[in-house]
Amino acid sequence: MNLSKSRYTAYCQCPKNLWLGVNHPELVEPDAARESRFAQGNEVGDLAKQLFHNTVDVTTHTVDRLDIQAMIEKTRQCIADGVECIAEAAFSHGGCYCAVDLLHREGAGWAIYEVKSSTYKSDKDDTADHLRVYTQDIAYQRYVLEQCGLKVAGTNLVRLDSRYIRGEELDIHGLFHIKDMATLVEEEYAKLATNIPLAKRVLQSKVEPAADIDAHCNAPYACAFFKHCLGDVPQPNVFDLYRMNFDKKCALYREGKVDFESLRGESLTDMQQLQVESYLSNRPLVDADAIQQYLSQLSYPLYFLDFETYQTAVPQLLGTTPYQQIPFQYSLHYIEHEGGEIKHKEFLGESGTDPRRALAEQICKDIPMGVCTTAYNKGFECGRLQELAEAYPDLANHLNDIADHIVDLIDPFRQKMLYLPEMNGSFSIKRVLPSLFPGDPELDYNNLTGCVHHGGEAMDIFPRIKDMPPAEAAHARESLLRYCELDTWAMVKVWQKLKEVVK
Ligand code: SF4
Repeated sequence: MNLSKSRYTAYCQCPKNLWLGVNHPELVEPDAARESRFAQGNEVGDLAKQLFHNTVDVTTHTVDRLDIQAMIEKTRQCIADGVECIAEAAFSHGGCYCAVDLLHREGAGWAIYEVKSSTYKSDKDDTADHLRVYTQDIAYQRYVLEQCGLKVAGTNLVRLDSRYIRGEELDIHGLFHIKDMATLVEEEYAKLATNIPLAKRVLQSKVEPAADIDAHCNAPYACAFFKHCLGDVPQPNVFDLYRMNFDKKCALYREGKVDFESLRGESLTDMQQLQVESYLSNRPLVDADAIQQYLSQLSYPLYFLDFETYQTAVPQLLGTTPYQQIPFQYSLHYIEHEGGEIKHKEFLGESGTDPRRALAEQICKDIPMGVCTTAYNKGFECGRLQELAEAYPDLANHLNDIADHIVDLIDPFRQKMLYLPEMNGSFSIKRVLPSLFPGDPELDYNNLTGCVHHGGEAMDIFPRIKDMPPAEAAHARESLLRYCELDTWAMVKVWQKLKEVVK
């Protein structure tokens, strides 16, 4: 079995990570975000080929996998033919294989361009730690290429530039940021002679390497085998503690302070202490005065707002940036006066169009200026409203006014006015709701009969509706509407519960 770029970086995180990935891939925790990143990565990789003229892509498939041998042969041929840039240039030496995203002829040698769908933000953010996995990846490629007799003239990292704003046409050179990684790669390269034989030994081993939970499980990224390695520990445990630094959790874990009983007396924040004590005593915390004070800032008519958004790595719409959240839908419950009827309005854009202008106009009609609106974790809704205000200056006053009058419905929970043991240190609506209304089928997202049950599904399905046959598209739109409606109905129920608690 060959070592590859991803296997080498897995080894660098932890030998056990490499071994489990090869021998027990079924233990990987499902991660929808990882799947989505993978799909976006393919699109970004395809576009990056346009960075250089006359790029020849040597990717070759058998029926169900890459034909590595054919790719290696084609790469050799391209080099011999004087091709300027090779995409997926493949090399193998001594059990080490790699495919270089873009291999560009520069001077008397070849420069490596490793393409990632992540974003460049600023030089300040580009710390060695932040770039560590990329550095390991590129250093490994340089090693394999040099073993194959190639002169490596440059080592570069290509990412999407988060500062890029899309115009009418996509500007490939503005979209991508290229970072010279030579200095960082040089340091990492020195470790390869030692690491590669060790990694190969792990690959051949029949025995799972021993490795305990530690800081490396979460850095440079959260390991997909964490649940497996944690094993049969009590629930809840130290890794559930609210906003505790991962290294500190590991230190407590190593001291055997795993279950909540053993965490009593530790130096914990107020919220962590509340989390532990509330669980152990099975008692809620209710600060009626604080809740009363919170509720007194909400005035009629009162609105409950929730946006759904989607994002693409490569900006598709004029004036947007990589991964910008594009609002395409909202749900709005509202009540005009004390004891009044709870009414509902909604908006869902047309898939395949830019939904923002129509959404912005509609929300200005649906929410008057100066009224009180609630959102759950309001930073998201306020951020989208402010972006819409920037995009449509003629509506900016109204949109900013809505944002300015939003009161956050998460505050009573995050600010320790109401805490239930079942929340276990999480204040997401998906955790708070079943804690406040256990077993209520009306508030159970799993009971939605459509094809959308969480934000990830909403985000995924909206851009695809434009390509669906009419009946399927109608079903998807109805599913989106009912899903988003439940989000704001849940907020209404939370607000009613807060009022009930202080009655
Ligand atoms: S969870 Fe930690 S110990 Fe287990 S494989 Fe991953 S990095 Fe290694």
